[in-house]
Parts: sequence; C-alpha cells; structure tokens
Amino acid sequence: MNTIILKKPGQLEKKETEMDQDLKPDEALLKVHRIGICGTDMHAFRGNQPFFSYPRILGHELGVEVIEIGNQVKNVKVGDRCSVEPYFNFGTDQAVRRGKTNCGENISVFGVHEDGGMREFIKLPSRYLHQSDKLTYEQLALIEPLSIGCHAVNRAGLTKEDKVLIIGAGPIGLATIQFAKIKNAKVAVMDVNEERLEFCRTNLDLTGIINAKSNKVIDDIRNVFAGDLPTVVMDATGNPQSMKNTFDYVAFGGKIVFIGLFQGDFTFFDPLFHRKEITLLASRNALGTDFQQIITLMEEGKIDTDLWITHRVAFQDLPEKFESLLLPENKVIKAIVEL
Ligand SMILES: [Zn+2]
Repeated sequence: MNTIILKKPGQLEKKETEMDQDLKPDEALLKVHRIGICGTDMHAFRGNQPFFSYPRILGHELGVEVIEIGNQVKNVKVGDRCSVEPYFNFGTDQAVRRGKTNCGENISVFGVHEDGGMREFIKLPSRYLHQSDKLTYEQLALIEPLSIGCHAVNRAGLTKEDKVLIIGAGPIGLATIQFAKIKNAKVAVMDVNEERLEFCRTNLDLTGIINAKSNKVIDDIRNVFAGDLPTVVMDATGNPQSMKNTFDYVAFGGKIVFIGLFQGDFTFFDPLFHRKEITLLASRNALGTDFQQIITLMEEGKIDTDLWITHRVAFQDLPEKFESLLLPENKVIKAIVEL
C-alpha cells in the first residue's frame, strides 16, 4: 500500500509497505481518508520533537472508514466513518485504572511514538474509534486537534462566570476558544502575530483581542475584562516566557492551564503564586469522553471548523509540499491531506 515515511528529519518519502491483514478479535481494519497535519508533525520533520525516533510514519489526526472488524468488535461496523483517538494504552497502570487514559505511564501516541496513519490502511483496537453517521472524514480528522482544547477547558472547569484569556491563536488556541465559548465564558485571545489576531477579529465573536507585544499588556487585559483580570489563563504557546507571564495576568484566586509545553525547567516567583493562591494545571492529550462530546457538538452544528482549513494537499503530493506548509508566508492554520 502507499505509505509516506519520515525517514529522518527533513526527509519525507513515498514507499510501498505491506501490512498483515489478520485481525485480532478486538481490532478493526481501516481505510484512511483524511489526515490533519499538526505542530507535532512539523517538529518531527524539523528534528526538534523531543523523544522522537526515526524512521516514523506520521499521522495522528485521522478520518477513517471501517473495512473489516474482528469477531469481538461491537462499537463499530463495516462502512462506518470514524475518528481515531490516538492515545494508546496497552497496560493497566495507575492512571489508566483511574480513567486517565490521556496520560497513562506507558502511553503510546499513534503517529508519534509508533507508526501512524500516513498510509492507505491501518488496523487498531476498535476501542480507539469514535463513530459518526453525520460527520465528514475531514470533520472526523479535526476531532483530535479539537480534543486538546476540549480537554483543557474541561480541566479548567470553566463556567459562564469565568473571564478567560487564551494565549496563542494557532490551531490549539482556536480549539480552546471554541470550547470556552460553548461554556459561555467571556473569552479574550492574545498572540504576538497580528495576522492571527486579525483572523480572530474577523471570524470569532470574542470579548477581546490583545497583542502580546503591547507595552501595556496588563492594562489591555483589564480593558477587555471591564477592569478585572482573567479568572482563567490558558497558554497554548509552549513558550516559556509566555507561560511565565501568565502568573502576572491571572486574577487573585484564579487558575492557569498550560496546554503547550517546552523542554526545560519552569520557575516562578513563589510569593506571587501564594499571594494570588493560583491553581496551576497541566493539560495533556484528551480523553475518549472528550471525543464523544465533540462529535455531539459538531453534529449539532455548534463547532465550525471550515475557517481553519487553509490548505488541502493530495496524499501523493505531500512529500514535495510538506516543507511549503512550514513557511510562515503560506499562513497555514490547518492543512488536511486527502487520499
Ligand atoms: Zn495533532
């Protein structure tokens, strides 16, 4: 079958691969129809994704069709369209036993830690499939990036009383905005990139839009929230300085959620942390329940993702076109591979 392999940083190649088609009782054989490209794929291509080994078949944002099922599979049937929850756990470590499948000790992310979906067919345990009769393959491929924002908003326990500042207007920040708005919270976005802010200004009905480069950022934030500071600050940049600034931005008694991450130590000024009695949360991956929640919201038309898809690429053309997706001048928000 046609496969695209990342042989080493910068080298994406088309290749024929074989897969033994025998299914275990709990597995499904799937035809891949759509693949979303995300920051993780970009980092792997550039060679700066930590704990990443090569060669690797990328692809973890997938819209797939069920071709065949093992004899114990109950949750999907042949012909179903599905999204893939790529956070695999094959043990019963403590987190998994407690239902935290997003951060199992031995988690293996399909398309990151193990070979993923940049190929015509894949097979995997059917419990990682989330089916919808109504959504398109493209919508199904977008559920994984949406789930990161959904999970972060669920972690924060947002309510309509919250004033939320979301830092970073890339795909994860945009996903987070969607779910914060569904909670009817007041939502403002901050970024350093004026084009991304303009995108938010034009397309999203937000309480405020703030340029992080402003020399009076705290005043700008207070202006947006009628004099108050945000009760929840969510960082989707993974930039250490941005993450550090959240301690200044958050209200007394407020929460900070780190969605983005970086490789290094993070320090903060403890007296400020205590004086404000800040709650600091990490958010990692997402849960199966997040996937289900998103499918329902998308089916009800409450999440619109058409705006985000700035680029569509044919599977065959991806190796030649991948580098162009990395160029800032091409203004990629989300690229979808079609096959
Ligand atoms: Zn992703």
